[in-house]
Formats: sequence, C-alpha cells, structure tokens
Amino acid sequence: MTKESLRPFEIIKDYFKYLASLGYSEIPALPEFLTLLGKKKALPEDNWSELIERIYQCQDCSLFRIRKNPVIERNWEGKKLMLIGDFPDREDDYYGKPFSGAIQETLQKMLLSIGLRKEDFYVTLAVKCKPIAGRSPDEESLLACKKYLLKEIKLLKPKLVLALGFLPPKVFLEGHESLSSLRGRPFHYQETMILFTYHPAYMLKNPSVKRLIWEDLKTFKKLYDDLF
Ligand code: SF4
Repeated sequence: MTKESLRPFEIIKDYFKYLASLGYSEIPALPEFLTLLGKKKALPEDNWSELIERIYQCQDCSLFRIRKNPVIERNWEGKKLMLIGDFPDREDDYYGKPFSGAIQETLQKMLLSIGLRKEDFYVTLAVKCKPIAGRSPDEESLLACKKYLLKEIKLLKPKLVLALGFLPPKVFLEGHESLSSLRGRPFHYQETMILFTYHPAYMLKNPSVKRLIWEDLKTFKKLYDDLF
C-alpha cells in the first residue's frame, strides 16, 4: 500500500483516539441508525411513564455525562396548552423540572399579563439535559433530543403551543428560518398551532425585545380565545 492510501486509516485512528480521550468506549452513532440496527428500542407509542423513563435513562448524546438530572415535566394530565423552552439552566438541572429557578418568576409575569398561568401549560424543553455553563446545546444534542419533544406533542396533542427561545424553531424547521423572522405568526405542525417568541432569559439580557414579546403574547391570547 502507498503512503497516500494509508492516510484515511491514520485519520480514522486519530479519531478513535480522540473519542477515547473524551471517555467513549464505543463509537457513538445517530440514534436513528441504532434503532435501524435494532440496538435501541423505538419510543413507546402511547405511554407517558415509559417515555419519562426513557428520557431518564437516555444517553443518546454527550450531555448525559454532565447533567445532574434530565429535565422532565410529569404533570401532563388534562393539559391542553404546551410551553416549550430552550434547555435546562442550573436550577432546572438540580431539580429535574423545567423553569424551576429564578426565571420562572419572569415567565409567570409574562403569562399573567395575558390572563394565563404557568400551571395552565404542560411545560417542557427542546433539549432535556443541561449543557456546559454558558453554552447552547450543539446540533448533535438538538438532533438526538428532538424525538422526545415530538413524542410529547404526539401524546399530549396540544391545540396551542407557546415556544420560547432560539432552539424550538430549529426543532420544527431545522434551521431554515430564524426566530426573528418566525416570531409572532402561527406555525402549523400537524394538528398543533405553535407561536414562537423570545425566551424570558433573553429578554432580561436584551430589554429591547420586551415590546416584541408583548405583541406575540397578545397574538397568543387571541389564538387561545379563538380555540377555547
Ligand atoms: S439531551 Fe436529550 S438526547 Fe441528550 S442525553 Fe439528554 S435526554 Fe438524551
């Protein structure tokens, strides 16, 4: 074999060494590929408890190594509205519940301004495990976690969803449209209507979006009044 033809093997060897340095003892693969190989069970069809257990045990992306708890809502019964956030913060990670830290006060004020409460919603996140502090989850985590959010929608069948932050549009539109171009107009996903707007944590850092969020919340309330 020529030196040139050996080059791809060297690259693969270096990649294996790199994975080993990250602590992998086997090659990570896309969850869809593992399902195809029969190495992963398909998600439960209609069972919330099994879904929660699957998320609890999930190791489908590298975030399982640094999370304290995956963040899951257990209170789905009777909920007709869904609220989707971006990813867990430190408190969410600690308690294993979405919007459980200081930001829930801001969220509650936003919702109360249109006569709703956080408790009216099934609350979930686009990515269930906390990334390294100060960073957003990468594409690998977003892709690996997307199946859980879509399954939650399939099980809950909410008529109306309020989606907060930059990650939910990436789940539904795979990055084809930015939040600034999507926000404030209803987006149809199967039987569900989704309204995208900015996350309250982003608003606290960028007060200029407060007015835009208020406009979007008024649109959400109008959709709510029309539907319920
Ligand atoms: S972020 Fe999602 S895909 Fe990744 S380990 Fe957590 S639950 Fe699994």
